[in-house]
Amino acid sequence: MVDKHSGLWDQCLRKIEGKIGANTYGTWFAQTSSSQLDDRLAVIEVPTSFFVDWLEEHWVDLIRSTIEEITSWSPEIRFSVRKNAPVSAGAPLDFSTTDASAPSRAPALPEKQDVPPPVSEAVFPLNPRYRFEDFIVGESNQFSFTAAKAVAESPGATSYNPLVIYSGVGLGKTHLLQAIADYCVRNGTASRVVYISAEKFFTDYLKAIRKQDTSAYVEIYRNADILLIDDIQFYVKTEACQRELIHTFNTLYQLNKQIVLSSDRPPSTLKGFEDRLISRFQWGLVSDIDRPDLETRMAIINHKAGDHGVRIPREVARFMAEQIDSNIRELEGALTHLITFSIYKRAPVSLEIARDTIKSLGRVKSITSPTISIGEIQKRTAGYFNISVELLTGATRRQEIATARHICMYLCRRLTQAPLKSIGTEFGNRDHATVIHACKNIAARLSTDADFQVLVSRIQNRVQQVASA
Ligand code: ADP
Ligand code: MG
Repeated sequence: MVDKHSGLWDQCLRKIEGKIGANTYGTWFAQTSSSQLDDRLAVIEVPTSFFVDWLEEHWVDLIRSTIEEITSWSPEIRFSVRKNAPVSAGAPLDFSTTDASAPSRAPALPEKQDVPPPVSEAVFPLNPRYRFEDFIVGESNQFSFTAAKAVAESPGATSYNPLVIYSGVGLGKTHLLQAIADYCVRNGTASRVVYISAEKFFTDYLKAIRKQDTSAYVEIYRNADILLIDDIQFYVKTEACQRELIHTFNTLYQLNKQIVLSSDRPPSTLKGFEDRLISRFQWGLVSDIDRPDLETRMAIINHKAGDHGVRIPREVARFMAEQIDSNIRELEGALTHLITFSIYKRAPVSLEIARDTIKSLGRVKSITSPTISIGEIQKRTAGYFNISVELLTGATRRQEIATARHICMYLCRRLTQAPLKSIGTEFGNRDHATVIHACKNIAARLSTDADFQVLVSRIQNRVQQVASA
């Protein structure tokens, strides 16, 4: 009667997914099956013993109540590890203990807040993962986040029209644009919400032209209360397309409808657009997103792990965040690998597994980067402290200058391949022992002083950002 069991269990699973959301469901339930389910006994088969512990500890009440709702039975619930179970590569695990012998006793994760049902409708589907609540705010994205929130609350009614958000890849543009759209839909601040990639925006137009009927196109785009166009740099810049974009822009703008754009570079440097479009892009607010600092990256890791119903030990989050510092999408990918790895190894997430993950991704970050020069690091560090390079590298022993100098030496040591002697030379002809002393000093302070860690990682971010720009 396997079919009957699995049929009932499938019904339970569907219900469970509705209760806990797709991410947590995917992690803990997608790989379960049932070999017996009747009024006496429910046997739930799972891939590994970690699942047994975790389900027993966190989800058994939910399973019990769901079975009751579906069947009116209250059977005893048992978990059993499936023989030779393949472990799905997409399914994450585990917890915050580093003791492989003990199953986790991590506290339950906070419940996701209930999402209010939509009030109005998005014309095209949105990704439910991209909400303001899931966006971690740090110094790098604070400004764009605040502007996005203001626009979502009062579309068309702020001076941010259009709002243009630009950044490098994987830093949250799409997330923010969709979060604005999602907010408008849920809170009814706009009725017709249109989020669209520039590519689709343009192909829709071509289709309309080919059919010699632009009424549907106009209906969708020119009647939007808020139009969000993602990756405007990919818009095809033929004359006709640009004319169309200007029309849409003018129509919406005159009606006080909100326009939001994202771009991979500042609008003023977009290539191939007519000047009158570029100038329109700059009528409202242009806001950028920087690479996030270490603390923000760690917070993002914790948040994303939480989406999978998983907790990551702090030192592991820190290690991952240190290794992958330029692109949040990559950071997410690495996290998924990490969790999957821990399933394969049947061991909790640990620093060791994190190292293996990073290695397997070919992402062991080289601590040397040939593209950054000592001079550049000095310039940026001096800029950060608002002092001159001469003062930074000079002889003054004033405490704050000396600290800035030591940080700068430390960064030169970490970020370049320059020998100690050359670093010393570039710091006012000091000797190599002075550089060693400075680096040791900084390393010691970094290991005990959290504020200092934040300071140094900010400066390092700034130096590297410029170097990679
Ligand atoms: P972009 O459009 O700039 O290339 P995305 O918006 O697609 O980047 O972001 C890449 C991934 O990183 C997405 O999964 C997104 O949810 C995540 N992400 C980016 N910024 C943040 C943030 N501040 N907080 C949480 N997740 C973020
Ligand atoms: Mg994007």
